[in-house]
Amino acid sequence: MAQEDVFKKLVSHCKEYGFVFPSSEIYDGLGAVYDYGQMGVELKNNIKQYWWQSMVLLHENIVGIDSAIFMHPTIWKASGHVDAFNDPLIDNRDSKKRYRADVLIEDQIAKYDEKINKEVAKAAKKYGEAFNEAEFRSTNARVLEHQAKRDALHERYAQAMNAGPDLNELRQIILDEEIVCPISGTKNWTEVRQFNLMFTTEMGSTADGAMKVYLRPETAQGIFVNYLNVQKTGRMKIPFGIAQIGKAFRNEIVARQFIFRMREFEQMEMQFFVKPGTELEWFKKWKETRLKWHKALGFGDDHYRYHDHEKLAHYANAATDIEFLMPFGFKEVEGIHSRTNFDLSQHEKFSGKSIKYFDPEINESYTPYVIETSIGVDRMFLSIMSAAYCEETLENGETRVVLKLPAALAPVKLAVMPLVKKDGLPEKAREIMNDLKFHFHCQYDEKDSIGKRYRRQDAIGTPYCITIDHQTLEDNCVTLRNRDTMKQERVAISELNNIIADKVSITSLLKTLQ
Ligand code: ATP
Repeated sequence: MAQEDVFKKLVSHCKEYGFVFPSSEIYDGLGAVYDYGQMGVELKNNIKQYWWQSMVLLHENIVGIDSAIFMHPTIWKASGHVDAFNDPLIDNRDSKKRYRADVLIEDQIAKYDEKINKEVAKAAKKYGEAFNEAEFRSTNARVLEHQAKRDALHERYAQAMNAGPDLNELRQIILDEEIVCPISGTKNWTEVRQFNLMFTTEMGSTADGAMKVYLRPETAQGIFVNYLNVQKTGRMKIPFGIAQIGKAFRNEIVARQFIFRMREFEQMEMQFFVKPGTELEWFKKWKETRLKWHKALGFGDDHYRYHDHEKLAHYANAATDIEFLMPFGFKEVEGIHSRTNFDLSQHEKFSGKSIKYFDPEINESYTPYVIETSIGVDRMFLSIMSAAYCEETLENGETRVVLKLPAALAPVKLAVMPLVKKDGLPEKAREIMNDLKFHFHCQYDEKDSIGKRYRRQDAIGTPYCITIDHQTLEDNCVTLRNRDTMKQERVAISELNNIIADKVSITSLLKTLQ
């Protein structure tokens, strides 16, 4: 199946089974804003718990906070967001559609890559085992031609972005590359303008007027302005980290690809404060630690790659993304940045207050350097859903849709099903559920045939189902069915908790990280 079709199916599956709904749907929706349904909220909470516990429980020197969304507006001046949190936008005059100029150019670079890959795939098919890809790439005339165009474009684009960005040059690249609007098919482009991504609102209603405040575009600044409060009250010693999960808001110009790019989303960020000079060592360590966290979910190591940044933000001295293979290619899920002492120094400058750390080991004060790990909950959610979504043909020719979610993240861990709705089976099923519900999330289901009930549970990713039948009333055993293997075994009710609890717990997942 084409990857685009897989993605469309995934989006409708998310809606059909209560994972994600378009926001304000009965009013025709609100662009790039989504609501999580009864299943979605459970999966999302489990993702957040997995992240939070991996930070705060597994590291003695990391603590959490929950800072407010509203902050003093000068914070965003100090952080550079008021002046520089911009995207270059361009409009097509015919379709009236708005695009990010940088994204149009990056898509064009990707098109050259696609052309090259197609040539390689064609040749690989033609020559079979004798095919030498490296040689083909370095000698084939058509590949070399595409590669040269791609490299020249990449170089020109990087220069334009590094120069401010140079908005005229970005537009000129779009014209020279003859990039057309995908809707109107024309090259009738406006000038490129800078567009600030922060939402603003007003606070208070005094006679002098209200204060303009921003909805935070990242959670990190709430950590920076509190770092000394936490350090002093928690008696933290460097190196130490502060973790936070919370909403962030960005007025994205091009909001596409479902929950990949939203205007209201959630971030899980951790700022790790270190001694100046040690930051690149810590950067390396956090890069490894974070990739391990992702890989522990078991989707396969080939789903992940690092993308080291060539163009560094002015405050960073190293940066990388962890990318995940989504249905629309490898995409950033998490950023790991070595942010130097930029943010803390800026807040010191703009607030006029000293926020230096006194290091008792060397008897000196300094402004710590910071390594940041920043991951979007919603993007993580999308990556998990897209890797877990499977359509399988069974031995009997039937098909099933199954979400192969890691058991620890699955919204429901166990479905409890009486075979029939009579003969005391529902009562027995309730009795079992009333015991197990304290240990993990169970769902009771007595409607329709057992086959249909299994399909419903497969579709929401429930790792285990138990069926209570007439035999159960005699031997106190049930049929336990495994989602992935579909194998069924007879087990004693008294053993259920032992068998299931460990496999579905976040603790077990966390133990694999040690
Ligand atoms: P992108 O280049 O995709 O816009 P970014 O580099 O601006 O992302 P960061 O500012 O580093 O992203 O934010 C950290 C993380 O927050 C990202 O890796 C992503 O998972 C998430 N994130 C950022 N913007 C959005 C958004 N609009 N919708 C959903 N998640 C987002």
